Amino acid sequence: MRIVVPAGGIGGARFLRGLKATLGIDSSDAEGQSTGNSITVIGNTGDDITLFGLRICPDLDTVMYTLGGGIDEERGWGRSDETFTVKEELAAYGMKPTWFGLGDRDTATHIVRAQMLAAGFPLSTVTEALCDRWQPGVRLLPMTDDQVETHVIVDDGEGRRAIHFQEWWIRHRAALPAKQFVGVGADSAEPAPGVLTAIAEADVVVLPPSNPVVSVGSIFTVPGIREAMLEKTVVGVSPIIGGAPVRGMADACLSAIGVETSAAAVAEHLGSDLLDGWLVDEIDSDVEVEGIEVRSRPLYMSDPQTTEALARAAVDLAVELSGENT
Ligand code: GDP
Ligand code: CA
Repeated sequence: MRIVVPAGGIGGARFLRGLKATLGIDSSDAEGQSTGNSITVIGNTGDDITLFGLRICPDLDTVMYTLGGGIDEERGWGRSDETFTVKEELAAYGMKPTWFGLGDRDTATHIVRAQMLAAGFPLSTVTEALCDRWQPGVRLLPMTDDQVETHVIVDDGEGRRAIHFQEWWIRHRAALPAKQFVGVGADSAEPAPGVLTAIAEADVVVLPPSNPVVSVGSIFTVPGIREAMLEKTVVGVSPIIGGAPVRGMADACLSAIGVETSAAAVAEHLGSDLLDGWLVDEIDSDVEVEGIEVRSRPLYMSDPQTTEALARAAVDLAVELSGENT
């Protein structure tokens, strides 16, 4: 089975670990030669930012490190056994910003990326080269090779202005009232090479429990990606359990665009034209959404077994619904 997964960072990466496990994919066989199963990840690059001359792609790196065994499990982002000497030294020079968590090991990744980009390689080629080291066991594609950055329109009394998503998320911890999210550059962006073909060839599309606004939503700002998925059987996993995000501040993103923080409202927002099936937590078992098949399962990815069972439930529902589609 060929599965396409549009993914953000932590929620996407943890789910992908369960999906790999249930499909029996190991890192040496990402193409699925032995199992017949393969996963193509369309990674969010809306979070990307250039700092200190380095191009940083937090969501691509979270997926790559998580699946490749290099992630800091506790934090959920960045490298394991990390130190922050470079960050401290930059701050000692008065270099700004100081709020970005730039680890020493992580910096090596950004240096490789910056050097390859400067030499003229597209981000998709750079990502493939970085994955040569990490062997994530999936094909990891950026949503686009073009520069698309999520900016947040905020209004805090000092007037309305746009700031980079990372400044809003990390520096202000999503506490500045957000009016709107804008994918700067998205209008003229094209899906990265391989993205539309992977969707066309996919048996099913699975939306992991990634942030529906700034992860999945940002992937969908690239013209053509969401549209291509409409032809497919699509099953999603709710990132909202019992009216709250499991981790992070997705509620601040949802309220900025006028969507209630609930499993039902997120499914409606993603759209019944896109979603065929939706997994909600058992606590939300009464949720119904018109035009979407809703099932309840334990949705906390608290350990590998539960995460694998959740991924299995998503695949099974997709297979069941694609049978009905054909
Ligand atoms: P980010 O880019 O690192 O913010 O990560 P994602 O966009 O991929 O995922 C963030 C979302 O994952 C948040 O909205 C969380 O609610 C959701 N999430 C995190 N852990 C879990 C979990 O164990 N279960 C579910 N259902 N959602 C989760
Ligand atoms: Ca992200």
